[in-house]
Amino acid sequence: MGLNKLKKEMLLDKTTKQHLVQIAGPLALEIIKLYDTDKVYSPEEIAAKLKVKITMIRSTLNSLHYRGIACYKKVRNESNMFEFYWEIKFKKIIEIIIENETENLKRIEEEISYQQGRDYFYCPKKCVDVPFEVAAAYNFRCPNCNKPLEIKDSKKFAESLKRKKTAIMKTITKLQGILEKIEDKTTGYICD
Ligand SMILES: [Zn+2]
Repeated sequence: MGLNKLKKEMLLDKTTKQHLVQIAGPLALEIIKLYDTDKVYSPEEIAAKLKVKITMIRSTLNSLHYRGIACYKKVRNESNMFEFYWEIKFKKIIEIIIENETENLKRIEEEISYQQGRDYFYCPKKCVDVPFEVAAAYNFRCPNCNKPLEIKDSKKFAESLKRKKTAIMKTITKLQGILEKIEDKTTGYICD
């Protein structure tokens, strides 16, 4: 599989999209999508391509730079002025996401082991969802709307946690596969 195809595949991944928006806002994905070829761009070129204000492009690039994802190069133009060209480190994006997803996996595993052998209670209006001890402290009534709390089907709950765990593990495996194959040509760019 070619590099550009890998980049495209990676940017279609739901988890990747969510993380990029979290890291650098709604424009992050749009900017990074421009980098599915080996081209590099100046902020002015990106602004023109996306029809977005240059200040927005700059602030998104800065957020990406802060996380080591966007790297720049200063180039002198014909009028002897510096122009900035930005490159995107796809490997870094994947590394950050794998790190975060590994954290999520740990959290789910803890929740799974905590949940085992415990009864959970929930408000029928969905205000709260708490283990037995907390429900007892609430006198089995919702602290928000005062409805009686109902007992949760623990088998179903355990299954939903396991499904979440499997989904995260799948994402991690998929991203690790891409990480092994993807290469960044960021020589000469300032990354941090
Ligand atoms: Zn409630």
